[in-house]
Amino acid sequence: MVRKKIDYLASLNEVQRAAVESMEGAVMVIAGPGSGKTRVLTYRIAYLIENGIEPWRILALTFTNKAASEMKERIEQVVGPGARKVWMGTFHSIFARILRVEGHRLGYPNDFTIYDTDDSKNLIKDIINSMQLDPKVYKPGVVLSRISMAKSNLITPKRYANNDDLMVYDRMNRVPMIFQIYEKYTERCLRAGAMDFDDLLLQMFRLLYQNPDNVREKYNLAFSHILVDEFQDTNSLQYEIIKLFLDPNRENPNICIVGDDAQSIYSFRGATIDNILNFEKDFPQLQVFKLEQNYRSTKHIIGAANKVITNNDRQIQKKIWTEELEGHKIKLIKTVTDTEEGKRIADLIVEYKNRFHVKNSDMAILYRTNAQSRIFEEHLRRLNLPYKIYGGLSFYQRKEVKDVVAYMRLTINPLDDEAFKRVINFPKRGLGGVALNSIFMKAEQANISLYHACFETELSPKAKNAVNEFIRLIESFMQKNQESNAYETASYIVKKTGIMEVFKAENTLEAFGRMENINSLLDGVQEFVENDEFTEGEPVERNLSGYLQNIALLTDFDQKEEETDFVTLMSVHSAKGLEFDCIFVVGLEENLFPSYMSLSIPEQIDEERRLFYVAITRAKRFLVLSYANSRYQYGEIRMNDPSRFIEEIPIEHLEDNSPIKQKLILDKPKILGGIKPLDKKPVNDYSKEAQNFIPDHPDKIEENMRILHLKFGPGTITGIEGYKENRIARIDFDNLEGPEKRIVLKYAKLKILQ
Ligand code: ATP
Ligand code: MG
Repeated sequence: MVRKKIDYLASLNEVQRAAVESMEGAVMVIAGPGSGKTRVLTYRIAYLIENGIEPWRILALTFTNKAASEMKERIEQVVGPGARKVWMGTFHSIFARILRVEGHRLGYPNDFTIYDTDDSKNLIKDIINSMQLDPKVYKPGVVLSRISMAKSNLITPKRYANNDDLMVYDRMNRVPMIFQIYEKYTERCLRAGAMDFDDLLLQMFRLLYQNPDNVREKYNLAFSHILVDEFQDTNSLQYEIIKLFLDPNRENPNICIVGDDAQSIYSFRGATIDNILNFEKDFPQLQVFKLEQNYRSTKHIIGAANKVITNNDRQIQKKIWTEELEGHKIKLIKTVTDTEEGKRIADLIVEYKNRFHVKNSDMAILYRTNAQSRIFEEHLRRLNLPYKIYGGLSFYQRKEVKDVVAYMRLTINPLDDEAFKRVINFPKRGLGGVALNSIFMKAEQANISLYHACFETELSPKAKNAVNEFIRLIESFMQKNQESNAYETASYIVKKTGIMEVFKAENTLEAFGRMENINSLLDGVQEFVENDEFTEGEPVERNLSGYLQNIALLTDFDQKEEETDFVTLMSVHSAKGLEFDCIFVVGLEENLFPSYMSLSIPEQIDEERRLFYVAITRAKRFLVLSYANSRYQYGEIRMNDPSRFIEEIPIEHLEDNSPIKQKLILDKPKILGGIKPLDKKPVNDYSKEAQNFIPDHPDKIEENMRILHLKFGPGTITGIEGYKENRIARIDFDNLEGPEKRIVLKYAKLKILQ
């Protein structure tokens, strides 16, 4: 026992150790990334247990359940299996656990259901219908977010109705009945014995607040020590609940929070930096520990991070330093297209494996939006590199992507029963279970496909109509496919099915994410159509069938469960608290990172910068930043400037051969008051011509000509192989590194430059 104790305490520096050993009273550790905050929190728990605090009297709130289980493992190494009895997990999971025991006091059964967002929206739709309101006006997603806002601010339906500000706001938005929907929603949830995500916080609050003697006191006595990691991302309701867990009779309760205001990245969810500032006021006897040494990253990475964050005004002053080596400079990758970005990063991963023996599992690709994962997935697959996507399904596994692909599959092959099942009633066309069952049975009896069974099944007139409409829809897709390329057909499918309208009507962040994914899918199809590069074998037909063949390999890809050595792909948001040897922060372009929604609001730019700060401080040894000059966004090629955050990194931390940093700075328009005009000059001079780009006929292309390619820019034809239909040009593009490209002229879009 004693030996172990010496072991872990010896792995702490003086300040960390003091923070661990200060068992009593309120403690705050606000410190930079990689300074050992999570380590302090973990070992503090171990120390408490070693010094006689029973594990089940410790409540520790973490950002993810995964983080909690890793911390438990650590603690277990010190104190043995008792560690498992610590109450450790996310706010939601811990509160759900307590509500299972106490929920009956609020009228919930102990085995209450937890509604996910879909359940909530469906219920709201029901209510809107029963109130005979127009669901186009009262969009379920909008209503849900109003309800969620109210709950997070402790506003009951009654208080909502009496709150002038809210009522005026709703009236102005022509949705004055939200307060009633909210009331009914609350009743129906309770009647169904269900809590939604917001309820897990709200009901926890109510439970403690309304039952000071029997419940609050019980938990005040039960938990002797409370610890919170990543405190900067708690919202005010969470903070109120934490305070209710503390014994009001104790002058200086045992609460320990750790966090970093510079890493606060959830203000859109209501997290507030005020919590940190209030903490000092709420606990006047607070002991504050400052950690400044970073144990994670090398000097170049720390130097860059320190500099970047100075561009945010509102922050608690602190600087981190490291005893680590200088390390490798930061690599900056500039590519012409987003596809090339994917390829370069995948190639680099192989290089790091070979040159530096970095394992797959020590590498992570971080992006701003989940939709960006597609291109990286494709290139990692091509190189047979195992990967895993966190915080989101792999691109082709996402429901909305699968649904659109199912329509494509059915267009090509109406016998495809799995595709049929996915989309026969999506978007909803009023087919009930009875009608669908008849179709399924008919297909079974007659041994025909579901699609064909539609023609032969006897149905009610209403169902018959719906089915006929579906058939007509698919037939129109088949027709379109006869005369169009893959992109035209795919866009037509998306348009005619009305899938986008469904999501648009939802009007939630999640629904917009889904729309983005469908756009990203279409971008992929567009790219396939325009991809005139010739690799090997016969050129693939650029129609829908060719496209589906192309991605079939990708959709059928099964990620082996037992695989443990995989590259990680995740959004920067979900990378919080984690570390990897090698980090690739990709898509560093204006309008993407910082996101286009943040550009006109200085506070939001600051939040984007904190996000960037979180991203780069995940790296231990290698940091790679990348951006593409052009990217498929919303069905067209967009030219974006490199992200302002790249410029904020001092040049001495960047690799020498990183692309023309100086030029990049010269190119930049002046930043006025932190806000940059949206209509900026594109990076490449040929982009102007792209607007009126009309390609020349392939037969006109000859050796030695100067040409312009829409994606790759200007270049010289260095040779031509083959005849007629099969002519392939070798082109040396001015802006591309590496060997010449071979391009099938039949598909190429080239303009001859005079
Ligand atoms: P973040 O803000 O990113 O959450 P953090 O402050 O929580 O970072 P930790 O994750 O606790 O930092 O620590 C960063 C890394 O440094 C970990 O690998 C940890 O094991 C290591 N570390 C922390 N303190 C020490 C120390 N005193 N000696 C050696 N390594 C340490
Ligand atoms: Mg941490």
